[in-house]
Amino acid sequence: MAGVVVVAEQLSGGLNEVSLELLTKAREIGTALQQEVTVVLAGHGLDGLATQLQSADRVILVDDPALASFTPDAYEQALAPVLDELAPTLVLAGNTSMGMDLAGGLSNRLKWPLAAYCTDVRSEGAALVGIAQLYGGKLFAEVELGQGPVIVSVIPGSFKAAAPGGAGAIERRAGSGETSRTRFVELISPEASDVDIRKAQALVSVGRGIGGPENLDVVEDLARALGAEVSASRPVVDSGWLPKTRQVGKSGMTVKPRLYFAVGISGAPEHLQGMKDAEFIVAVNTDASAPIFDVAHVGVVADLLDFVPALTERVGAGG
Ligand code: FAD
Repeated sequence: MAGVVVVAEQLSGGLNEVSLELLTKAREIGTALQQEVTVVLAGHGLDGLATQLQSADRVILVDDPALASFTPDAYEQALAPVLDELAPTLVLAGNTSMGMDLAGGLSNRLKWPLAAYCTDVRSEGAALVGIAQLYGGKLFAEVELGQGPVIVSVIPGSFKAAAPGGAGAIERRAGSGETSRTRFVELISPEASDVDIRKAQALVSVGRGIGGPENLDVVEDLARALGAEVSASRPVVDSGWLPKTRQVGKSGMTVKPRLYFAVGISGAPEHLQGMKDAEFIVAVNTDASAPIFDVAHVGVVADLLDFVPALTERVGAGG
């Protein structure tokens, strides 16, 4: 038994960044344990994607028309025999909507343990230790994973992404030929008409502290003055004050703008997950102990309805 395996993830032919993040960690553990790093990628017509993953020692591409669209069932059937044959020490998957389905199914099929919601894995001698997030990030547990085989699903954004490319060998395999019990019906993409907040250089992000939709013009005015887009925490979206396309966080978008202005946002772990890598974070909150101040570069303890219009006026007047 040897090797570290990354289960790469793609949707409609686009590689999920988490795959490259997992490659960084796989290489680190592979080097420590002196084991080979292999990426497995399932889908159809993905030769172009496989080349992005070649910083692994090898890439196994399971290519089958039946895998053109994701269903946990079909992907499990395709990947389980490959993993079984590789008999690795460690399998890394993304703790994403797809990865969580797949990692759980693979764990069940292969009878290998699964540590989910991990933010790190390290080797201590021949043994592996995972750090798993509990209660939405309020607690972190150190999990003894033994010497494998073990599957670990890792929260996106936990590691720096490996550079795409490389010279690892690419091997092609056919699917399992088994019939899937699940049928792919339709992929519903988010509304294309709205702005893509992931591309914005500056975001003014609004939380429940805004009080109600009648106050939104306060943040919209600041965003306009700063040349920024407006984004939001989940309660603002769930209340229907802004569209889902504006939501930052675990169940929304991951953003890395140059400026992130968090207004009336407490800084729950699910929100931080989507914005903690912003270059410069400014937070405005009435509560000096709000967790958002732990990640903010500049913190302002003030009522946003007083502070934000005053700032907008200063910005509008040229600072
Ligand atoms: P609150 O936590 O209510 O914070 C409001 C803040 O505003 C407080 O800190 C308060 O002090 C401050 N405030 C109040 N009045 C003022 C004022 N006048 N001036 C200045 N400050 C003021 N959340 C997300 O954001 N994105 C996600 O993608 C996401 N996904 C989730 C997924 C799951 C599975 C779960 C369980 C939760 C998820 N959440 C997500 C919800 C998350 O746990 C928090 O509930 C949410 O982030 C809180 O939003 P908030 O900070 O706007 O609201």
